[in-house]
Amino acid sequence: MVENAEVVVIGAGLAGLVAARRLRDAGVDVRVLESAGQVGGRVRTELVDGFRLDVGFQVLCPAYPAAAREFDLAALDLRPFLPGVRVHTDDGSHLLALAPAAFRDGWKALAHGLFGPSDLLALAALSGRDLVGTRAKVRADRSTYRELRRLGCSNRLINTVLAPFLSGVFLEGELSTSSRFFHLVWRSFLRGGAALPAAGMGQLPAQLAARLPVDTVRLNTAVTSVAPGEVRTADGARWSARAVVVATDADAAGRLVPGIRVPGWKSVTTYYHATSATLDAEPVLRVDPTDGLMVNSVVISAVAPAYAPPGTSLVATSVLGVPSSVDETERRIRDRLPRLYGLGADEWTLVSAFPVPHALPAMPAPHPLRGRVRLDRGLYVCGDHRDTSSIQGALASGRRAAHAVLADLRPRYPELVAWENTNTT
Ligand SMILES: Cc1cc2nc3c(=O)[nH]c(=O)nc-3n(C[C@H](O)[C@H](O)[C@H](O)COP(=O)(O)OP(=O)(O)OC[C@H]3O[C@@H](n4cnc5c(N)ncnc54)[C@H](O)[C@@H]3O)c2cc1C
Repeated sequence: MVENAEVVVIGAGLAGLVAARRLRDAGVDVRVLESAGQVGGRVRTELVDGFRLDVGFQVLCPAYPAAAREFDLAALDLRPFLPGVRVHTDDGSHLLALAPAAFRDGWKALAHGLFGPSDLLALAALSGRDLVGTRAKVRADRSTYRELRRLGCSNRLINTVLAPFLSGVFLEGELSTSSRFFHLVWRSFLRGGAALPAAGMGQLPAQLAARLPVDTVRLNTAVTSVAPGEVRTADGARWSARAVVVATDADAAGRLVPGIRVPGWKSVTTYYHATSATLDAEPVLRVDPTDGLMVNSVVISAVAPAYAPPGTSLVATSVLGVPSSVDETERRIRDRLPRLYGLGADEWTLVSAFPVPHALPAMPAPHPLRGRVRLDRGLYVCGDHRDTSSIQGALASGRRAAHAVLADLRPRYPELVAWENTNTT
């Protein structure tokens, strides 16, 4: 059986959905072939016993340059985190945040030696510079650790505050990740904090997919081989197309298109615990640098109440990697919850745990912020592995791939000309 489309996109993650929507908007007949039973790829929300569980805790930075371009942010009904972090130490906990409520705690943290006055100056200087927004791609790239040291942050500030916070973003504790990516994330965080769609992160791909005509995405359709102008699927179908966009994760892209760079993976495991005890918690990310166990924890229902049924609270706690015993680690986390939230270990119920071995493509420095998306005439690739390992990277790469296709198929398309003139990240 031979099927025809002007463009076939492989993969209905954020990158593939953005590419398809932009092509569709330009009047291209596009089909998306997705191996899974739903859209979203690594951004997915499951409903379990009335709880909304993101498959691996993650957040949207609304100030990502691509977020306002690709999403209707108002329709997502975003629920913001308090912009900052609560650091738990042996002598109590300190809220370090860009909020008046954090002022007293910030001085307490200074007094307890969590960081020194010169650290405050270094942080203010680097934040000021990032806020103004020197373009990340023109900066020299080095590891984030070396960059923070170069910018005057002490090892104490790094070890007690910055590394615990950033390791939850990079999913690695050494801060070996590209400093260019650090500056992009830091700037987005300073400009717009972090947020969750009220009904779960799965709303992001759901919103993108809803803007496509109903028959555009074919679910449960795994692609087995790709060539310029041709795609074959596991059910024996052959697709003929003028252009093929490979929008899968890096591993699958490497299998379908030999020669594509395939980075290693960063992994994470998220545990969701619930309690029916009254929990008066602020919507802020918590870190515990005294304990090498968890990377972060948050009362997710304090951020977005619809994540938990009425009368209950939901906490998401993540650890780096995938532990050899998910159950044993769950017991250790449960023992730590009283220190964080003041309720006894027996007041928590495990709702579910999600080990995610393939969460983020590794981005050690030097990391090119933009990989090539046009491999050959008729063959294109996108996905977070072509830009940065983030929602921003996936969205931006999908857009770039769509524009590369249009440059070949519809060189006079007006938006393409406008985009060539601005050429933003
Ligand atoms: C646990 C976790 C936490 C994260 N935290 C954050 C965060 O806080 N902030 C942030 O910005 N980013 C975060 N990210 C990263 C972000 O979610 C990803 O970078 C982004 O979703 C990647 O999108 P993508 O479209 O590039 O790839 P994917 O989402 O992997 O989509 C690829 C799609 O291709 C499909 N596919 C694969 N092979 C085939 C085939 N042969 N045929 C057909 N279809 C195929 C897959 O099923 C999938 O749907 C996190 C990711 C995870 C997993």
